[in-house]
Amino acid sequence: MEMRYHSTRSKDVQVFSKEAILTGIAPDGGLFVSDQIGSAKLDLPTICANDYHANARLVLGSLLPDYTADEIASCVAGAYGDQWDTTAITPTTKLGNDWLLELYHGPTCAFKDVALQMLPRLMSVARKTAGNGRNVMILTATSGDTGKAALDGFADVEGTGVTVFYPDGKVSDVQRLQMVTQRGANVAVAGIRGNFDDAQTEVKHIFADERVAERLLANNTVLSSANSINVGRLVPQVTYYFDAYAQLVRAGVVSLDEKVDFCVPTGNFGDVLAGYYAKVLGLPVGTLIVASNANNVLTDFISTGTYDRRRPFHKTISPSMDILVSSNLERLLYYLSEGDCELVSSYMADLSNKGSYTVSKAILERLRDTFSCGFANDDATRQTILRTWDDLGILIDTHTAVGKAVLDARAHEGRQRICLATASPYKFSADVLCALGRQIEGLDGFACMDELERITQTSAPAQLSGLRSAAELHPNVCDRDKMSAFVEDACARIFA
Ligand SMILES: *Cc1c(COP(=O)(O)O)cnc(C)c1O
Repeated sequence: MEMRYHSTRSKDVQVFSKEAILTGIAPDGGLFVSDQIGSAKLDLPTICANDYHANARLVLGSLLPDYTADEIASCVAGAYGDQWDTTAITPTTKLGNDWLLELYHGPTCAFKDVALQMLPRLMSVARKTAGNGRNVMILTATSGDTGKAALDGFADVEGTGVTVFYPDGKVSDVQRLQMVTQRGANVAVAGIRGNFDDAQTEVKHIFADERVAERLLANNTVLSSANSINVGRLVPQVTYYFDAYAQLVRAGVVSLDEKVDFCVPTGNFGDVLAGYYAKVLGLPVGTLIVASNANNVLTDFISTGTYDRRRPFHKTISPSMDILVSSNLERLLYYLSEGDCELVSSYMADLSNKGSYTVSKAILERLRDTFSCGFANDDATRQTILRTWDDLGILIDTHTAVGKAVLDARAHEGRQRICLATASPYKFSADVLCALGRQIEGLDGFACMDELERITQTSAPAQLSGLRSAAELHPNVCDRDKMSAFVEDACARIFA
């Protein structure tokens, strides 16, 4: 069967995955979805015998079938090469009675690398084989980790540029330095005065602005997205759910077809949605546990069926999850409504006009068949970091700790449970150190890194400790209403 993608809000325009990846977001503001996902299940015994590369080829081949097998194979080989510090790519290790899926072994030390080492390669191939030779400017709003991962993935990739906006003062020292020290002739970085939701909302406006699009097209340039609304971001993340399962089967921990639970520290709902796709593709998933920080809009949604973004925004120690509008939820609503574009459109209209929507009883029931939820505030998160270090000798970051806190608060349902570890603890050294009971007052990000190394006898990843001597190349901070002009200037400079 020929696989096509269309918007969550309308089935009128049907495109191949290459076009969906090049475009990023559907023209009507919806997200690209396919009705054919899961019509063929992946073969579990094969998955369990495969290494990471082979599993990535299987997953990508199944969800992006207009790419040839050779194209996929070369993307996989390039994306998961020696820029990773382990050939396992995403190793699954012991976490007390549970398991830790370590997703931070890539070049920028957060799970975003799994997708963002892949997306530029998928985009390059799409550009050459389906893209009219146009330049692609990647436009990204980041709560901290996506920005660097996108910059690293796209730097100096031919025919592409990348512009990143981060909320000034709302990312960690190390996160900011990772971005503002980025090299490459095709990169642009700016802080904005506002929070992540402000940045994301304005990026969506820029995408939807036809006058901007016209002016860029006159310079042979189109905009695309590296946010997890891009299909090319979502699909690579499906691989590690299968691969983690394969690792547990090979270790004799679960038997073939036995269900496992995943607990996912969640912000924009991209990571946990990939787990849902894995389930649809045949992975034996019990429960997907959506773990939130104090910005617990998803906890309330899964508990009550009402999504309400009208609430105070909390700046927490897990900033990559400080999100009140979880974009990828729209894709789940599409599937749970059994493909009812009109209903999804009405929810999204309510969200933007009234600030909230309430799903039907049927959708809520289907949601609860697979998803469960919980949240942890900063205190609980710190206590979990301390406990995990003291009891297990395992150092986890502030985002992973939200997941672990939520897992620890749940009754065990008898299934093996895998907690996704989404960042290296050294990306958030100050808050991790503070959780371990140390004074951090007066210490900068690097002093915290040194102290964390000293007291835990572990080592910071070289790509983070090396930042202390890197030059800051991108000093820009702008207001929200200047973002659009910043993007156009970057396009003019990069694609001159
Ligand atoms: C992005 C991010 C998350 C949240 O992932 P979503 O796909 O947005 O739900 C969690 N932890 C870390 C470290 C992240 O960078």
